[in-house]
Amino acid sequence: MSDKCQCTPAAECGLILNEDLLWEKGRPGRSSMSVPESGVPAASLPADLAGDGPNWPDLSEQEVARHYTRLSTWNFGVDTGMYPLGSCTMKYNPKINEAMANLPGFVNAHPMLPAEATQGELQLIYELEKYLAEIVGLKASCLQPGAGAHGELCGMLMISAYHRHNKNKKTKVLMPETAHGTNPATAAMCGYSEIKVPLGPNGALEYATVEKLMTDDVAGLMVTNPNTLGLFENELPKIIEMIHQRGGLIYGDGANLNAIMGYADLGAMGIDVVHYNVHKTLSTPHGGGGPGAGPVAVSDTLLPYLPGPRVVKNGDKYEWNSDLPLSIGRLHNFYGQFRVLVRAYAYVLSLGPELKKASALAVLNANYIKEKLKHAFDLPFDQPCMHECVFTDAKQAPNKVSTLDIAKRLIDLGYHPPTVYFPLVVHNAIMIEPTETECKEDIDGFIAAMLQVAEDAKNDPSILQNAPIKTKVQRLDETTAARHPILTGDMS
Ligand SMILES: *Cc1c(COP(=O)(O)O)cnc(C)c1O
Repeated sequence: MSDKCQCTPAAECGLILNEDLLWEKGRPGRSSMSVPESGVPAASLPADLAGDGPNWPDLSEQEVARHYTRLSTWNFGVDTGMYPLGSCTMKYNPKINEAMANLPGFVNAHPMLPAEATQGELQLIYELEKYLAEIVGLKASCLQPGAGAHGELCGMLMISAYHRHNKNKKTKVLMPETAHGTNPATAAMCGYSEIKVPLGPNGALEYATVEKLMTDDVAGLMVTNPNTLGLFENELPKIIEMIHQRGGLIYGDGANLNAIMGYADLGAMGIDVVHYNVHKTLSTPHGGGGPGAGPVAVSDTLLPYLPGPRVVKNGDKYEWNSDLPLSIGRLHNFYGQFRVLVRAYAYVLSLGPELKKASALAVLNANYIKEKLKHAFDLPFDQPCMHECVFTDAKQAPNKVSTLDIAKRLIDLGYHPPTVYFPLVVHNAIMIEPTETECKEDIDGFIAAMLQVAEDAKNDPSILQNAPIKTKVQRLDETTAARHPILTGDMS
């Protein structure tokens, strides 16, 4: 097959072993178990169930174990090495979180048990909600939403419920050009049209621009701070005050909270609702389509609209309260991704006030990388950044080397590529977010790899144009893979 490792002989790839499809490996009659012969006479299936059945390959246990273990070595994760994927905060997830989430009491707790039998779980929910609200300086929080985008939906439904309750006719939402794609999508799902807000020359919102666009039918502003360029929105408090005076509310996209924990008081800033991405900021597992969580924290204004039911403390007992007349209702079955939230709780408790240091180090690391690379790569906004910095391929483009080539070459040098072509406001963006968990040696290694890439782009662009060469598969046809996925063993 053409997408196999190009090393000949394959052994040149060392211990990154080739692996066939299970259908190519299977041999009729192989089995992963040996059971005694049955003493019960064979019976045939009813006619409507009979037939050939699915085309599963016959495999031994060892073949299955090796298959998946080999495949796992082709991949890259935060446990493999530095993963500077901007906007995603791919920090290392401490293993203590896993141990806590796997405590038998949590694993075996049935979601339909009554409150008397789940006091520990309810206490965890109650306390984590308190801590999350405290970290951002807001009134209360709710753990139900299952992802950042789900938190956005929750927040915008609350804003919409608030306006409906107060008989405000609102049809539009202000949306900075830097907004993540989920923001306009969420606004649209809640029935709002968007007013795009252009950025100022320093990459941030400007009061005068927002003020001009603010009208009586605007429900509010959705804003990410620091924004998706990794820049702090300095004029935000003034902007928020103006929007509040004209009857709008503020949705804070909290995906970038890793830059400001313990430093920025979102309550004092005037944010009405913000979501957490626990799989970014609070070190729960990230990506792969697995469960994450997107709790929201709210100001006094939106408190009555939070999803329900809510955990309350009555004396020293925890109970469910469903008497919430203005609540937008339930957003998730039971109480969200409970064991993801256990990991977030373990992380918050193990760091405590040190969460502030995590933010400080994340910002320091990003600025260090920015300063070390800005002579070799085009830096569109040359100013102090927060937890991530954005370059482009403008210096390499004259040699026919693109952002994608730079990203692919980094793989050969042992690093996961940064985020590319996002944010959309920067042409051919390369967005680097080191996070706080990388040590100086690893960050220096990444910087050296980036400088090597810049040198190669000057001296021999073909090295970049043909990268990666040391991976099991090379450049994939991503469009066909997405449009015509082959999900069975049938390769004909
Ligand atoms: C990641 C991200 C989101 C969406 O969060 P999910 O948890 O992936 O749904 C929203 N906004 C920004 C700025 C993000 O980086």
